[in-house]
This record gives sequence, C-alpha cells and structure tokens, in this order.
Amino acid sequence: TIELSGICKAFGDLEVLRGVDLSVERGEVVVLMGPSGSGKTTLVRCMNLLEEPDAGHVRICDCAFECGTRRDRRGRAKLMQRARQRTGMVFQQFNLFPHMTALGNVIEGPHQVRKLPMPEAVALGERLLERVGLADKRDVHPSRLSGGQKQRVAIARALAMDPEAVLFDEPTSALDPELHAEVLEVIQELAADGMTMVIVTHETHFAREVANRIVFMDGGVVVEEASPETFFTRPSKERVRSFLRLVD
Ligand code: ATP
Repeated sequence: TIELSGICKAFGDLEVLRGVDLSVERGEVVVLMGPSGSGKTTLVRCMNLLEEPDAGHVRICDCAFECGTRRDRRGRAKLMQRARQRTGMVFQQFNLFPHMTALGNVIEGPHQVRKLPMPEAVALGERLLERVGLADKRDVHPSRLSGGQKQRVAIARALAMDPEAVLFDEPTSALDPELHAEVLEVIQELAADGMTMVIVTHETHFAREVANRIVFMDGGVVVEEASPETFFTRPSKERVRSFLRLVD
C-alpha cells in the first residue's frame, strides 16, 4: 500500500531523514518508535507528502512520486493532492476546525473534496461519529469537547475520506493520561477491522498489542524492524535496548 525508498529530508543544515526505506502492506499496522528528534514525525508527514522529501521515491497505492525533481509542477501538485486523499492523517494537536461542529468537521472533506451530496455526507458523518462513540456530540463545537473526544472526532474525520491508510502522529501525547485509553481503543478497533495504519507512539503497551511490526528510528534512519514480540523481548541492537530501558 505504501512504499518509501531512499527518503531524505533536510531542514537547512539539519539532515532529519537520511535514506529511509519502509513499506507498509495492506491491512498492516506499523508502529514507529524512536527517540525524540529521530525523524518519526517528519517521516509520516513525508508518507502523505505533507512534507516533500528532498530525494527518494514515495508510492501510495497507485500514486508514484519521484522526489527531488523540479519538472512538471502541475502534474506533481495533482499527484500530491491524490496521495493526501488516499491517506488520512491524525495529528498530536487534533487540528479540528474550531468554528464547525463535530459533524461539520467530519463531513467537510467528503462534501467539499469527495463531492458527496450533503445528505450522504451527513449520513456518513453520523455513522463515523457513532463508530468512535460520539453520536451524541454531533452538534457540539470542539471547544466544548475533551481532548480525547476531539481526537476521536479527528479520527472520524480522517476515516471520512475513505483512505487506504491512516497515519497517526503521537495521537495521545497531547492528552491527559486518563484520556489515552478511549483514543487507543478506537485505534485498536480500526486495527481489528483491518485498517492499514502507521502509528508514531511512545506507548509501549499499546504498541505491543496493536502492531504487526515495530520500526525503530534513530538519527534519521531505520535501525531495527521486528515483530512486537522480538522487539520488546530480544531486540538485536543495543540502541533499542537502551531506549526501551528509558521508556518502560
Ligand atoms: P518527537 O518524538 O520529539 O516528536 P520526532 O522523532 O518525531 O521527534 P521530528 O519531529 O521528525 O522528530 O523532528 C526531527 C528534527 O527535525 C528535530 O530536530 C526538529 O527540530 C527538526 N524539524 C522538524 N520539522 C522542522 C521544520 N519544519 N523546520 C525545521 N526543523 C524541523
């Protein structure tokens, strides 16, 4: 579903990604872990071309994108837009539209971008709010929702675009600890339904339960890739062992 090869990205002199290869199969849940500053956020943003890599290839389903060339700007802009529609993104800070209700947030994309007629968009929005346990918050604005509720609306909004994969960037890190479970449960249900997902998280227990594969990054490269079982019980690299000692 998603294939990255040789992804490089620098911000000025800072080389954040230094040749990352990663593929995510349909229905797979990949958890990205690694120390702060290792490039996890930048990598997920590159996956749906919110950030354009300086070099490398990105393929999202049928959208293939060669990075770092300056040719054919209009064609590239179109491809980037298609790539973004195929991947839903859930951010640390929710990024909801504050002036819209929960339902308004969820139906904006399907109505404006997918051009679903309003009654269908509303029916879809109501179904998705129900799926994340927020049917009763349909007409409430984000300022009156808890952080956990906001993040669940953000998940419903990502699903509303009918994406091939959903990318999560530390979905619980802005939440009070007691609100983590409600968001993680929704993500776990999506995993059980077979949704393809890439999740950046420091939550080791959750990672162990939800992931098919853990990818560990350090210094802008992938250092280790393993099943959760192997990753947490017998990682091959000392770098991973010292990281796990710190987060556990
Ligand atoms: P964390 O776990 O702290 O979120 P991370 O592994 O997700 O870290 P990134 O957010 O990808 O790491 O950041 C990697 C490095 O790139 C950091 O040093 C960060 O300051 C820098 N960086 C990220 N985005 C930008 C940007 N838009 N402009 C300049 N520097 C950036």
